[in-house]
Amino acid sequence: MTIAENLIRIKNSLPAGVKLAAVSKTHPVEDIMEAYATGHRCFAENKAQELSAKQPLLPSDIEWHFIGHMQTNKVKYIAGFVTLIHSVDSLKLLQVIDKEALKNNRVIACLLQFHIAEEETKFGLSPDEALEMLHSTAFAGLKNIRIAGIMGMATFTEDTGQVRREFRQLKSIFDRLKREYFAEDPGFCEISMGMSDDYRVAVEEGSTLVRVGSSIFGARSYC
Ligand SMILES: *Cc1c(COP(=O)(O)O)cnc(C)c1O
Repeated sequence: MTIAENLIRIKNSLPAGVKLAAVSKTHPVEDIMEAYATGHRCFAENKAQELSAKQPLLPSDIEWHFIGHMQTNKVKYIAGFVTLIHSVDSLKLLQVIDKEALKNNRVIACLLQFHIAEEETKFGLSPDEALEMLHSTAFAGLKNIRIAGIMGMATFTEDTGQVRREFRQLKSIFDRLKREYFAEDPGFCEISMGMSDDYRVAVEEGSTLVRVGSSIFGARSYC
C-alpha cells in the first residue's frame, strides 16, 4: 500500500465530523507531498524545530497541528503559522503561546492535554487543575489564544478494554468542562484522541480528531 492509498482508506473509514491529522513526524517532505496530492491538507508534527524546518518547504495551504510536548522556548518557531496546538498542559505554556501569537498578530487555537493513561511518562493536566487555570485571572488576560477542546493519549497496551475506558474518561472530562466552563462557547468542540493502533476505539468513544502517523506513512526509524 502506498502513502496515498493508506491515507484515503483511513479517511474514508472515518465517520462524518471526525477529522484526520496525518502525523508526518520523522518523514521527509516528499512523503508529505504524496499525501498532499490526494487533497489532504491537515498534517501534524511533534517537534517544533522539525516542523519549522519543513513548513517553508511545503505548500502554504497546509494546516499544521502541533502534537508534541512543548517547551516554552520553542513556541516562537511555530507561532507564526501553526493552526492548532494539541498539547497545552500548563498556564505558563499558554501564556507564552499567547505572547508569541500577539507578536504575530494572530489568535492560536489550543487544546488542553489531559493525563488519562497509566504511564506516568505521559503529560497532561487533571480536570481540577484545568478548571483552576480556566478560572484564574491570569487566564482571563490571555487574548491571543482560544481553547478549542481537549486532547489525550491512552496507555500503550493490547488491552482494548483499558484503552476504551481511558477514552471514555477523556470524553467525560470534555463534557464536564463544557458544562462547567464552556457552555456558551461553541468553539470548544474538539476531542483529539486516537492514534494508529487505537483510533477506531477512539472514534467509537467520541473522538472528533484522530492523529494517525505510522498507518499512513509507515514505521518510523526514530520517534
Ligand atoms: C506520534 C504521535 C501520534 C501518531 O502515532 P502513530 O502510532 O504513528 O499513529 C499521535 N499522537 C501523538 C501525540 C504522537 O506523538
